[in-house]
Amino acid sequence: MVSTRWLDTRELHKTLLSCVVECVENMATVGVLAAEHVAVGLVENNQLVGAPRIYPGSGPEGRSLQGLPAETISEGIRRQIEEVIKGKKIRAVGVGFPGITREGVIEESPNLQQAKGFNLQAALASGLRRDRDAVPVLVFNDADVMAAGIAATQGQLHRMIRVWTLGEGIGYGRYPAVEGVWEGGHTVVTLDPKENFCACGGVGHLEGIMGHRGIRLRFLDLEPEEVFENARRGDGRCATFLKFWHRALAAATATSIHLEGPGKFFISGPNACYVDLGWLNIYLGEMVKMSPLQGSLFEIISTSDEIGIIGAAVNAERAALGRSQE
Ligand SMILES: [Zn+2]
Repeated sequence: MVSTRWLDTRELHKTLLSCVVECVENMATVGVLAAEHVAVGLVENNQLVGAPRIYPGSGPEGRSLQGLPAETISEGIRRQIEEVIKGKKIRAVGVGFPGITREGVIEESPNLQQAKGFNLQAALASGLRRDRDAVPVLVFNDADVMAAGIAATQGQLHRMIRVWTLGEGIGYGRYPAVEGVWEGGHTVVTLDPKENFCACGGVGHLEGIMGHRGIRLRFLDLEPEEVFENARRGDGRCATFLKFWHRALAAATATSIHLEGPGKFFISGPNACYVDLGWLNIYLGEMVKMSPLQGSLFEIISTSDEIGIIGAAVNAERAALGRSQE
């Protein structure tokens, strides 16, 4: 009888445990991507549930976060999260924010400078608490969140991937997210002291060559789109620059390979359409010669708010799980 009772207790324990696991698995996570605007959504099983909420809206108050104080942005994010949750129990909130983030604090954000030094994690966590239990809020770099979203939607959650985002600036994301700075857009790709067009002020940076500010300062008379278009039409000056632009990306990729090994590199962002993978592969081949470091692969991919939201949720779930196992 004793052994039967013991078995019953064990069965009960198993049943209870499976209920808890099921309950946790059924809980959703909130993903937030803050870039030009804020996009917030509920994520279940690596999929967005319902339409994302966008802040600021498309009304007369403007569409960009650039002119808003950090407290206003944080409060806007919190309100959207409350709308998305609507009283449901959630596992965690993940936020992708541009710049260097550490333990929830925005240490540097070149595109949203008003956020520098702001503790976004603390502001959101205290705003969301009220009578509800504390919800873990985790803040990540926006490019890392994109990388996690790509990994989740491309079936790559089991391996390391890296993502270059080519736009106004140059983003570098990595999945899985690891502690560190990872400002790959500011990788030094040339020793020429005249290459000083990066917005951060550093000499020889990738973004100083590939980013819009750098292109405008280099050409003075042309917008980035005109440079790309002229290169396509065969204009000598622009075509020479476009090869240099590709070499810069190959160089930064080669540095990443020499530090972390070969692998899959996704390329996204509005300027990904100007990438010639043939050139990129040739230049990379010239820069990476050691045999164990061969085999990297580039793939151009389009991204969206949805992928960023999913990625923020994926990273938050992984981080929250890691904490609970500590
Ligand atoms: Zn820089």
